[in-house]
Amino acid sequence: MSRPFHVGRFRALFLTGTAHCGSTLLGRMLGMHSEVLCVGEIMRLEDALALGYGCSCGASFDACPFWGPRMELLAPYRNDYKSYDLALFDELAVGARQSLVFDTSKTRVWRSRRNWSTPDARRRAGFVFLLRDSRGVLAAAKREGNELAHAAPRHVKWIKRVARLAEKEDGRTLVMTYEDLCRDPAKELRRLMGFLELPWEDALLRPADVVHHLIHASVSGYLAGSNLLNRDERWRSELTRDERRIVEEQMRRLPLLAELYLDEGSSRYVYRDAPLSTRSGSPGPR
Ligand SMILES: [Zn+2]
Repeated sequence: MSRPFHVGRFRALFLTGTAHCGSTLLGRMLGMHSEVLCVGEIMRLEDALALGYGCSCGASFDACPFWGPRMELLAPYRNDYKSYDLALFDELAVGARQSLVFDTSKTRVWRSRRNWSTPDARRRAGFVFLLRDSRGVLAAAKREGNELAHAAPRHVKWIKRVARLAEKEDGRTLVMTYEDLCRDPAKELRRLMGFLELPWEDALLRPADVVHHLIHASVSGYLAGSNLLNRDERWRSELTRDERRIVEEQMRRLPLLAELYLDEGSSRYVYRDAPLSTRSGSPGPR
């Protein structure tokens, strides 16, 4: 059966946000769609190779059945992430017989934003801004050995940058939160399908059913391999009172973060659904 050359609104979709925002989860879900090729953080391929990371399938990139045959195609791009362009995404999509390439390079999407503001890219590239509670992001950073006094302001600086881009490009940006995605994945993924003008597919809810070939994917083992979505709120027990204060002070600097995560009275507050026991700061679900 022949498939249409291209369906949906975009050829490329870029996830913006910061590390630990849930991008690998969304990548694995969206990558289940028959028209979507999720590549992971393609703009970090060179870093992944330098660090000795392989593909998320477990093979080295050269030995990976998906990336191995494509390493030559990527060779001219690898050394300079600002050289990535729609021509490469066209080639990847056509080669994989899919319509949309989903990249989760996050801050590098912002750094290469000029590439995505050409007249052609304005028509064929969109963005998903994925937010997550900064306390969750920074608890993960702490687990990696980062000092929160440095990491917290840096994180908020990046959210500000990405939020500005999302505002500027609001006609082709969808804003999502990790917390909403975990609470009601079907609802959030339907909203995403509407934005992308792609038909719903049930497979979107079963990200653990296949082996994914993602570049520089998250190494977090949190429920990887399971189709169960349990919102990771380990920050509630992992951050000390002082650390939480440091992070919340930074979050208050950005109305968007305060509305979503700190102000219980806000209509956008994401924990409206949470049982009182979780709201009061007891350990979240494991
Ligand atoms: Zn692979």
